[in-house]
Amino acid sequence: PIYSPSQDRYEKIFYRKCGDSGLKLPIISLGMWHNFGNMDNFENATEIATTAFDNGITHFDLANNYGPPYGSAEENFGRILKQNFLPYRDELLISSKAGYDMWPGPYGINSSRKHIISSCDQSLKRMGLEYVDIFYSHRFDADTPLEETVLALDQLVKSGKALYIGISRYEPDQTEKAVQLFKELRTPFVIHQCRYSLLDRSPEDGIFDKLKEHKKGAIVFSPLAQGMLTNKYLNGIPEKSRMANSSKVHLNKEHLTDEVIHKVKALNEIAMNRNQSLAQMSLAWLVRNESVTSVLIGSSSKKQLLDSIGCLDNIEFSAEELRQIDKIVE
Ligand code: NDP
Repeated sequence: PIYSPSQDRYEKIFYRKCGDSGLKLPIISLGMWHNFGNMDNFENATEIATTAFDNGITHFDLANNYGPPYGSAEENFGRILKQNFLPYRDELLISSKAGYDMWPGPYGINSSRKHIISSCDQSLKRMGLEYVDIFYSHRFDADTPLEETVLALDQLVKSGKALYIGISRYEPDQTEKAVQLFKELRTPFVIHQCRYSLLDRSPEDGIFDKLKEHKKGAIVFSPLAQGMLTNKYLNGIPEKSRMANSSKVHLNKEHLTDEVIHKVKALNEIAMNRNQSLAQMSLAWLVRNESVTSVLIGSSSKKQLLDSIGCLDNIEFSAEELRQIDKIVE
């Protein structure tokens, strides 16, 4: 059957301006780090992507090495795009990144001109795209002069392969240097991608101020701490969860400390009093923060995605709720 998106998709969520640029991002974006690789179910992945678009989520976030195996999330997204979204390409904001290990040898990693340009070309091929909307430097690379990285990113824009540029995981001082270099080149650098959640508030210690100073957007990843900010780990580790899958080295039972469980249980009490799931309250708490342009979620099912989008039904917090939350997570 030919996919036809929901007619009222633009009435379901809202869009925030990305810094002082002309670009608007959906308040919730969908990331494809997990659940879109070749080890995952393609029909399920398609259903997640189409449900997102049906709900006004216009932004899909990828990277060269999402999978597993590396590259397969982009390939699968390319298939989803071809089968469902091609008539809607101009309604979509698609991003990719380079910087982490991708292919063997010295040119398959980090942020040299050699890696960035060839990695972007590969990503375009895998997704079947002529350009990406945002291309990111995935992380700061101390082995490459920042000028080289910035010039390579600028070239992606000038050669029509990317419309906007972003950086991810850069510290405030690294961000400051990048801002100045992009300014000289007049590169449309518009966004920073960083980790932010109730269990990791580090961006409040500098990066949000830096982005505000330069009027740049912030898109925040792992807003549910990869699933720990939901009620799923309150009574052990369910078989069907990111943590139970041993290949997922980024989240394992060592992360689920007594301290985390204690915090999550206390937060869950507040969420229940607000008639929200813990996932919804954790996302709503991010949405209410004006420093956040978009909350970049992951979902392993349509049901989860709809639950997460439901956070928008209640994004107001009383002063007392905020105080209680601060006390729990500080
Ligand atoms: P989240 O913190 O949102 O974690 C998503 C996971 O949490 C899901 O896969 C699912 O796991 C669980 N979950 C999600 N919604 C619910 C719900 N409503 N109820 C119960 N469980 C839920 O984000 P991610 O860590 O996946 O990161 C999101 C995106 O951010 C990535 O896809 C990527 O695009 C980007 N990112 C960027 C990084 C960077 O370096 N720039 C680093 C990391 C992420 P389960 O499988 O257990 O069901």
